[in-house]
Amino acid sequence: MASGRGGFCGSWSKGGYSEGMNTKDQCAKCGHPELIPGVRVICKVEGSDQDVQLRFDCDPHAVFFKRAQRSVLTACICARCGFTEFFVNDPASLYSAYRESQA
Ligand SMILES: [Zn+2]
Repeated sequence: MASGRGGFCGSWSKGGYSEGMNTKDQCAKCGHPELIPGVRVICKVEGSDQDVQLRFDCDPHAVFFKRAQRSVLTACICARCGFTEFFVNDPASLYSAYRESQA
């Protein structure tokens, strides 16, 4: 028997959410079936590529400990019209930060 980790968040471990435009396998704009998933969104910092992240602060008014949650941004691009959708790789952590900020 393989020592499986039952219930270990399998769908996320493959980064599956960033591998498809929305839930369909075609462009949301023009319907073209050829998409480029998992495109990194890059900014240059002192000559090296850095992934762009989105950040949500649990406590934005705090002076020091804003308790920021961050998630890397990726894109899925249509090979015909260039329409681009963005995804974060960990929306759940941003959402929990948002919920905390509302408490
Ligand atoms: Zn398109």
